[in-house]
Amino acid sequence: MRKISSLFAGAAALFLSTPVLADNHDPMALQAKGLEDTVAYAITEGLTTEIGPRQAGTEAEARARDWSVKKLKALGFQNVRNEPFMMTTWVRGAETAEILSPYPQKMHITALGNSASTGDGGIEAEVAYFDSLAAMRAAPDGSLSGKIAFVTHDMHRTQDGSSYGTYGPARFIGPNLASQKGAAAYVIKSIGTDYHRNPHTGNTNFREGVTPIPAGALSLPDADNLERMIKLAAKTGTPVRMKVMMTPQNIGQQESGNVIAEVTGTDPSKGMILIACHLDSWDLATGAFDDAAGCGIITAAAKNVMDHGQPLRTIRILWAGAEEVGLWGGKAYAEKNKNQNQNHAIAMESDFGADKVWRVEYKFPEAAKDVRTEISQALSPLGISISGPPASGGADIRDIIASNNLAIIDLQQDGTRYFDLHHTPDDTLDKIDPAQLRQNVAAWSTVLSIISNSDADFTMPPKE
Ligand SMILES: [Zn+2]
Repeated sequence: MRKISSLFAGAAALFLSTPVLADNHDPMALQAKGLEDTVAYAITEGLTTEIGPRQAGTEAEARARDWSVKKLKALGFQNVRNEPFMMTTWVRGAETAEILSPYPQKMHITALGNSASTGDGGIEAEVAYFDSLAAMRAAPDGSLSGKIAFVTHDMHRTQDGSSYGTYGPARFIGPNLASQKGAAAYVIKSIGTDYHRNPHTGNTNFREGVTPIPAGALSLPDADNLERMIKLAAKTGTPVRMKVMMTPQNIGQQESGNVIAEVTGTDPSKGMILIACHLDSWDLATGAFDDAAGCGIITAAAKNVMDHGQPLRTIRILWAGAEEVGLWGGKAYAEKNKNQNQNHAIAMESDFGADKVWRVEYKFPEAAKDVRTEISQALSPLGISISGPPASGGADIRDIIASNNLAIIDLQQDGTRYFDLHHTPDDTLDKIDPAQLRQNVAAWSTVLSIISNSDADFTMPPKE
């Protein structure tokens, strides 16, 4: 039997095998290797277990940077370093909410980043209800005076995550608008798609000249409960009164930093490939989806390329600091590298969880269209679609793309369950599906293998 099967294997190899590239950068070989990856999971497990929550500007993020530098060195990368920068830092305090009347009961709330404090005594006020941000925008100025403005939404799961763009502004700009209209405080139905009793935090911003007010998110079931109470109480003209207590504070300028590592290429004159994730997380969870997994994915893929021999172009890994609280890391990186167009060719980011890549998008110059075709074909076996809008990049590479006019590739992940977990205490390691994580590494390995060894001209035409 053994003899016959080995004979057969020999014949099959002669007649059936596709030609094996002598080149050790064969993207399909790296893709196959990526499907067996263990590095991405190990990084995600390490960050979530050994560090845990790592809010930017805090001691936990500093520990995360130390861990990261050690880890990236141990993996064999070159030029591993921490590039510190300073940032204003907001930290959470105590937070409680309750309905006082007519249906007294406690609610689950969390403060939004940059929320003002209510003071220890909290704020008690009538709730002014709006079924959308647009409805609150239409309210006359001054009509919210002394009230707690409450905005709900009808966000549902979408594969591309676009519902976040539709409903997110209730968090991003709602508090600013409520303050301008005189509200004492602002609460939203969490910007999310789960039905756990976990509020979703996230940043908000008050424009200069606008007084910050306390702003928080209720868990989705609590917000729905409040909405029912308001509709019921309205039948008898009874106001709903609520008490909110949140005591966050600003602790001034603190240090954050970008952790950087490289696979140096053979030709430094060729623009490098910048690949990014963010190291910081919100404080409520260990940030497995957002964004330890992203750091795991990009790093595992870069290591896969490195392990197959030195590429033509340098691959630079950016584990950005302070994304969640205002994109400070991306800004600091762009500031340091702006106008060095020769240094960067293409930018990519992974910051949308750990579920499978379903679509590839490009912003490429015409001169590189053959590379685009090669990548699209090579990704087909992973079930990745090539139709899609132009790539726009991620939050941490936004500024360097803008300042240096870079080409972009987006490997879009399935975001169907992303906003179930986003910025909640539920964003933990157990949510990572190892098979889907490996598919990400395989996709990234394929793309990095091709572009880091391509001498195509990726220079974008000048912006209009
Ligand atoms: Zn993120």
